[in-house]
Amino acid sequence: GVLVVGSANADLVVQVDRHPAPGETVLGSDLRVHPGGKGANQAVAAARLGARVGLVGRIGTDAHGDLLVGSLVREGVDTSTVLRDDAPTGVALIAVGSTGENSIVVSPGANARVTDADVKDAVRGASGWARVVSAQLEIPRAAVVAAAAVAEEQGMRFVLNPSPPDPLLDPDFAGPVLPRCDPLVVNEHEARMLLGAASADDPAPLADGLLRTGVRSAVVTLGARGAVVAQRAGGTRHVPGVPVEAVDTTGAGDAFTGALAWRLSQDPDLVAAVQWAVRVGAAAVRGLGAQSAYPRPEDLP
Ligand code: ADP
Repeated sequence: GVLVVGSANADLVVQVDRHPAPGETVLGSDLRVHPGGKGANQAVAAARLGARVGLVGRIGTDAHGDLLVGSLVREGVDTSTVLRDDAPTGVALIAVGSTGENSIVVSPGANARVTDADVKDAVRGASGWARVVSAQLEIPRAAVVAAAAVAEEQGMRFVLNPSPPDPLLDPDFAGPVLPRCDPLVVNEHEARMLLGAASADDPAPLADGLLRTGVRSAVVTLGARGAVVAQRAGGTRHVPGVPVEAVDTTGAGDAFTGALAWRLSQDPDLVAAVQWAVRVGAAAVRGLGAQSAYPRPEDLP
């Protein structure tokens, strides 16, 4: 199984004809509220595929929190390590423009209260059933450092999706975390940001460049073009994308990473896991929304 260490947000979505300028008010569509946050998305992606999966995080005691916990439980995610916090549940305020361009304000709320002690207890408690610990960066750095350290201590594989991507350059974070990433999973934009690379057309050097940051392996997702995998021993491989009609790419990367983490908990072959995750990512772009479009095994292209 997989233990996901990460965020859960209520996504509050309104469509607008145009985005408001500072000081301005615009009218939007009726509000839609969706469960989101990278941690919850990755956990749900794995659960839909049949994984045993738990989430470690913090959610408020407010109505958004009840909604998120209810949806995680319905999806079959183990919420025994989701703590209810006095802080409000994390929220993403999303305005979707008529051209599909979003502007987003994230209020981390309870996600910012996840502690290293929460994570240590949860990872140790899951060591009997989870082989993989998967984290992102929408929770405090100290919690991610703890996840990497305790995963190693317990002999569990550690997967990191460093998104949002800026802090990798911080040596206090990079030093203890990067050498434990197997793999580091990023999209092309994040890879270029982390490496400070000028836009090269060929993505294979990006994956190789990430290996030089000290990670054990690296996966760069390439949207419709699939992904590249770089491993210290195994060289670099391009895994082609699966052609589908893309309706909404929101949350595709989270579906990919959740699927990858689950596959790695069943079989350590990274290239085989990426081949599977590319199909899951492709399925996830065929429908509107993030979690609502995540596939079951029978939905895979
Ligand atoms: P992110 O969602 O983080 O920006 P990507 O756009 O690279 O990440 O997408 C992640 C994965 O989702 C890709 O590796 C691929 O498997 C799948 N995917 C995304 N967009 C498409 C698309 N247009 N067609 C087919 N697969 C896609």
